[in-house]
Amino acid sequence: MGKLGLGIAAACAVASCAVAAVMAGRRVRSRRRWWKVVTAVQEFEAAAATPVGRLRQVVDAMAVEMHAGLASEGGSKLKMLLTFVDNLPDGENGIYYALHVGGTNFRILKIQLGGQRSILGHDVERKPIPQSLMTSTSEEFFDFIALALKEFIERTGNNSQLSQVRGKDLGFTFSFPVKQTSVSSGTLIKWTKGFAIEDMVEKDVVECLQKALSRRGLDMNVAALVNDSVGTLAVGHFLDKDTVAAVVIGTGTNACYLERADAVIKCQGLLSTSGGMVINMEWGNFWSSHLPRTSYDIDLDVESQNPNDQGFEKMISGMYLGDIVRRVIHRLSIESDIFGPLSSKLSTRFVLSTPLMAAMHEDDSPDLREVAKILEETLDIRDVPLKVRKIMVKVCDVVTRRAARLVAAGIVGILKKIGRDGTGGISSGRIKGYKSGKMRRTVVAVEGGLYTSYTIFREYLNEAVAEILGEEIGPYVILKTMEDGSGIGAAMLAASNSARSVDTVQVL
Ligand code: ADP
Ligand code: MG
Repeated sequence: MGKLGLGIAAACAVASCAVAAVMAGRRVRSRRRWWKVVTAVQEFEAAAATPVGRLRQVVDAMAVEMHAGLASEGGSKLKMLLTFVDNLPDGENGIYYALHVGGTNFRILKIQLGGQRSILGHDVERKPIPQSLMTSTSEEFFDFIALALKEFIERTGNNSQLSQVRGKDLGFTFSFPVKQTSVSSGTLIKWTKGFAIEDMVEKDVVECLQKALSRRGLDMNVAALVNDSVGTLAVGHFLDKDTVAAVVIGTGTNACYLERADAVIKCQGLLSTSGGMVINMEWGNFWSSHLPRTSYDIDLDVESQNPNDQGFEKMISGMYLGDIVRRVIHRLSIESDIFGPLSSKLSTRFVLSTPLMAAMHEDDSPDLREVAKILEETLDIRDVPLKVRKIMVKVCDVVTRRAARLVAAGIVGILKKIGRDGTGGISSGRIKGYKSGKMRRTVVAVEGGLYTSYTIFREYLNEAVAEILGEEIGPYVILKTMEDGSGIGAAMLAASNSARSVDTVQVL
């Protein structure tokens, strides 16, 4: 080999060493980036952790806040509103109707009750509320609703239906903030969810509906005005008399329960035929320093339309879970390139809905095909390897598990407040009621798309309730799904609050 040949060979050796070094360097950097991501996910998981000890602290905080909210107006972030519902449905008969106005759709329902805890028939019609009506006048809005009800009654009944006495009582579920003044009256505090019918604010919503019914020639009496959690409690109680509380976990979240009237300290001398009253907790606004809050929750809150408000709701309800996941992925994507080039979609709020997040979480295909599809179609993130798809599933899992376990703690908090968690209330020793043989079967009615449609969420929630309560008490507490509960419940409350009411609430 001549000098030239030697020179070429040496140059080649140097070049291949350099390539190997570059490759090795890349591998090291890529491994480091990967570990950075894994560490970031682990840190998020630790910050969002809900070991049972922490959940028990949340249980106690919930029970204490409930006390404070009942003791004085503004005494807690929990409003603990009176509903004036002291009669829960039990053994009614007859045909009843209900309207449910809660968002962009409204529902009309007809139920036929057969007494003795049986629902003989059930018709529902869903109708979108035209956008223009959401910002119109109260008269136009309620005229539209009354007409829809009239057409529904004519369609679902025989010709004489309009004059039938049994069809006269109407339940009204109205899922906006209302200051209730009786079981069948209440004034609108403010509109939410895109509604802005200004002349209705501070008006009695039942009066507005009642006038519209008269204008349409409908001889009906609005016998109950309720929110969705109260409706759910009503159905739960009708079907199972051990039902003492209800929780709604859909786009938003709320809970209500049966309280002793004398425990409502802020309202001395409360009139109640049964000695009990349903309390609307407005629990979405619950807050406690024991809640495992992360930097992503803080950012979500700061950028929301209602900062410092609805703190519990922002960690647990369907409106927000997908967005918490998006925020985590956004951060990971800024800090590393494992999701490829930074997608602008990742900075768009609410681009990842909770149902899409659930679809990724529940993807059981071996190559996580659904995850890849949603990443591409919704977030503009393409061609990510399987290990990155697994990271995505892990983040969904952390967010959902925390939400479900916190709801479980909230539910046990309610049970603690009313002495149904086996501890004998918030001030006495453990398992008092149970040891003395008094632990009673306790049912909590649950409604809302997050619980009914998101299987993993539901399983985590059920598991956590059992874990907090322990093996001895857990079997006494049953969560029951109430699909469409809020609307049916309003119709039932119309029944139990009509002149023909037959039974009263069983007070604890
Ligand atoms: P609303 O709360 O508006 O009365 P729903 O009770 O039907 O209505 O709940 C709808 C919410 O439930 C949606 O906003 C969504 O967050 C959640 N949801 C619905 N379906 C699913 C699903 N398959 N997986 C996860 N979440 C779901
Ligand atoms: Mg709902």
